[in-house]
Amino acid sequence: MAINYKICPYCNSKDVVKILYGYPSGDMIMSEATGKVKLGGCLINIEYSPDYHCNNCENQWDKEEAIYYAYEKIKKIKVSIGGYHQGHESLSIDLKTGEMTYSHSIDEEDNLSISLYPDVLEDFKDKLIGTNILNWKRNYDDNEILDGTQWEVELVRAKRNIKRSGSNHYPKEWEEFCKLISEISGRDFR
Ligand SMILES: [Zn+2]
Repeated sequence: MAINYKICPYCNSKDVVKILYGYPSGDMIMSEATGKVKLGGCLINIEYSPDYHCNNCENQWDKEEAIYYAYEKIKKIKVSIGGYHQGHESLSIDLKTGEMTYSHSIDEEDNLSISLYPDVLEDFKDKLIGTNILNWKRNYDDNEILDGTQWEVELVRAKRNIKRSGSNHYPKEWEEFCKLISEISGRDFR
């Protein structure tokens, strides 16, 4: 689970509490007084009712926003897929500038280095959230087979990079992910 809802997306503080809605009990009022929860009141706004409150900067957010901010922290995505027989394909997309490079270890005439249009890049970022990549396991492996297809995805961030990899095994969103990177690069990933 790479998405931590309880880190403030605005100031990075960990002094974050859950917002409780409804008529408060005495215990809940005590908990709020000591900064352990935040009371959201009895009137629930159907349009928007945030789930978390930052004690440090007073900002509030819901789960969907937390997911959006977690993906916004990714600066660059690097994908490599291949095997002994088919060669290796590498794709790198800078999610801030739209710079995209593709290379193939055998078919070098397929190599590519272009800049994506801003709206194409935004669309890619939206769809990347749909692949749930931040919640993939670290490794998908089948130790029985040494041959076949190996893959790795690296998400470059300001602090800690995230790596996902596998050998002949894939997360359940893999097909969707390959479709997405095939579409954006015009190259065949699977
Ligand atoms: Zn904050």
